[in-house]
Amino acid sequence: MDQPPYKDALLRKRTEILGTGGIKPLQASMENNTRQGDIALKLKATDAKILQAIEEALWRIDKGTYGLCRDCGEPIAPARLNAIPWTRVCISCKEKQSS
Ligand SMILES: [Zn+2]
Repeated sequence: MDQPPYKDALLRKRTEILGTGGIKPLQASMENNTRQGDIALKLKATDAKILQAIEEALWRIDKGTYGLCRDCGEPIAPARLNAIPWTRVCISCKEKQSS
């Protein structure tokens, strides 16, 4: 079977986030109304965002659209994918977003 090269990196990062005693997405939304869940969500906001992006990236690998910019549809540079395998957009769209 052909495993996309970035899938391992994505799965490793996901395990890393979930394995640090971090939140699980389902659990987080279930605890959304409790004070404890609220704190956990704030502490883990960045991880949760990455986790979401990782899930999307894994989904795109399955669909065969991984590595294409969500905004312009152009291929994302391999160097960028190596650095941030869960990225959704190419560097020029990213720069447009943050400006
Ligand atoms: Zn783009």
